[in-house]
Amino acid sequence: MNKDSDLFFTKKQIDGIMARYPTPFHIYDEDGIRKNARKLNAAFGWADFRNHFAVKACPNPNIVRILVEEGNGLDCSSLPELLIAEALGVSGDKIMFTSNDTPALEFKKAVELGAIINLDDITHIPFLEEHAGIPDVICFRYNPGKLRKTLDGNVIGKPEDAKYGLTREQLFEGYKIMRDKGVKRFGLHTMIASNELDYRAFIETASMLFDLVLEISKKLKIRFEFVNLGGGIGIPYRPEQTPADLDKMSAGIRHEFEEKLNGKGMDHIKLFMENGRMMTGPFGYLITRAIHEKHTFKEYIGVDASMANLMRPGMYGAYHHITVLGKENLPKDHKYDVVGSLCENNDKFAIDRMLPKIDIGDVLAIHNAGAHGHAMGFNYNGKLRSAELLIKQNGEAELIRRAETAHDYFATLNYPGSPFKDFVKGNDQNSRL
Ligand SMILES: *Cc1c(COP(=O)(O)O)cnc(C)c1O
Repeated sequence: MNKDSDLFFTKKQIDGIMARYPTPFHIYDEDGIRKNARKLNAAFGWADFRNHFAVKACPNPNIVRILVEEGNGLDCSSLPELLIAEALGVSGDKIMFTSNDTPALEFKKAVELGAIINLDDITHIPFLEEHAGIPDVICFRYNPGKLRKTLDGNVIGKPEDAKYGLTREQLFEGYKIMRDKGVKRFGLHTMIASNELDYRAFIETASMLFDLVLEISKKLKIRFEFVNLGGGIGIPYRPEQTPADLDKMSAGIRHEFEEKLNGKGMDHIKLFMENGRMMTGPFGYLITRAIHEKHTFKEYIGVDASMANLMRPGMYGAYHHITVLGKENLPKDHKYDVVGSLCENNDKFAIDRMLPKIDIGDVLAIHNAGAHGHAMGFNYNGKLRSAELLIKQNGEAELIRRAETAHDYFATLNYPGSPFKDFVKGNDQNSRL
């Protein structure tokens, strides 16, 4: 949703919501999330396919529930993410637990929920056995390192620089150990793309994994149930970008599947993905208001949101499209830095961005904030996390997470023996100051 005309709400609607909930807040589009989830499922209609929504992208259970209703499983990587799955009644192989550097307690909870355990390292085998026991289904995360083929010479990240996954040799060893421990159900996983718009990258990944499954099952005489291609389908953040072509991606993967696996006793293999970004990213906006303008060496617009509400621009220099509500059709003849209030010079939502003239009080919609947006929020500089709202399919806005208050900020000072207990109590729930 990288154009002004993509907004799923009107200025009037936002004015109505702002009368009840002060800016900044994140707002999500239920209809958009559902239709997009159906589109992904339809594209892979030929396969026994399931996307496991990567909870970390948007860990609000109200949003996660929508994806579960659309047939998604969940990809969890921490205890609280597992608790979200549990709260929504999701268990068993609908949960993929893909973590790294995993604490014992988290393995224990994942095994308790019957989740598919996706091991990140060969040394995690004895660790898992000691702390949680060996479950029925085991998956390993593969890191191809330099073996990863590249697209037309374009390197897609560098797997050998990534801390994740097992090497090829370790993979064979890992499955053998698990086979000898009596495990009968296996999966293979990798995740080597991130925000990738080129559909061919996913065909390459599928092809690589299908080859591996063939080789491993032949050599070790084990039976694979699924292949997980990971997440990482990108979204067009910049106006000139277009979405990844899901139909071409699916057709290419189908071709590889049929050529490599059909007729080899592998037709049953399920195809999993674990996209987060593309499931919610385009369907969420950060709504913020211009509260200051400043003219020094550059023209600044100060808004009431900060990097604490959306970290991507400050952290990665990522582009997020900005629409000034009600000024969509005015000429973009002003060059602004749109900034937040952190005492960090990279707290900028846009640098040298051409926008219509902005007046104090104008409302800005920052696009594609539905994934890795609110989720990456933090409290640095005493910033409070913002509220989240959902525009439902019937058009009504529903609060799905209240804004943090100073009370929340200080709540962890309330521990036995704390000299600040009364101070915490004094900052009641409603205080935004
Ligand atoms: C982050 C992550 C995902 C989701 O990635 P997106 O870019 O949001 O699709 C999926 N799987 C794993 C293991 C991840 O770490």
